[in-house]
Amino acid sequence: MQRINGRIVNSLVGKITYSGDSKDDKFGINITADITVANDESEIASNDHVYRIVDDIGSLKGEELSDDEKVMGFAARGQNYIYLDKNFDGTTATHETFHSAGLKHIKDEIQSGTFGKPIKKIGNHFQSFSTNDYSGNLMHQQRDLKKFRTSNQGNKLTKWQLTMIESLYSNKKLNRGKQKTDD
Ligand SMILES: [Zn+2]
Repeated sequence: MQRINGRIVNSLVGKITYSGDSKDDKFGINITADITVANDESEIASNDHVYRIVDDIGSLKGEELSDDEKVMGFAARGQNYIYLDKNFDGTTATHETFHSAGLKHIKDEIQSGTFGKPIKKIGNHFQSFSTNDYSGNLMHQQRDLKKFRTSNQGNKLTKWQLTMIESLYSNKKLNRGKQKTDD
């Protein structure tokens, strides 16, 4: 458990890069992690964020997956539980942690736009962002890369994502204490 703990901390601390919208942006991001191992459910407080290390998230969630698909992580937006496959790797822990911190996938954010549809200017006309934008953003879904040819997943977050976390937090939409999935 201590080893898994270290893997989660390592993937969180010092890895996220912030890509500003302009060079005048004065945003910075500093992540610290304080994770302890719970020996029993009774040690978990309602405001703790809990990483649950499991064998098979797919069957836990009752998802239909093809043979080459495996769910490496799952977390519901704004809730306190975070599932990680026992063999989680790369950005999985970080990606799921930011779901827990209120972020949606880029493709969903572009669809339903919490902040309205983001628009970019190309030459003289305006165009919506697509999943091919935000290259290297942490909130792309790894499996969409193959399916929909979206941009690669990386460690980047944008200003609007950070602003969104802050605004959800201030409006008490985060840390709602839900520790378990419905099923
Ligand atoms: Zn995700």
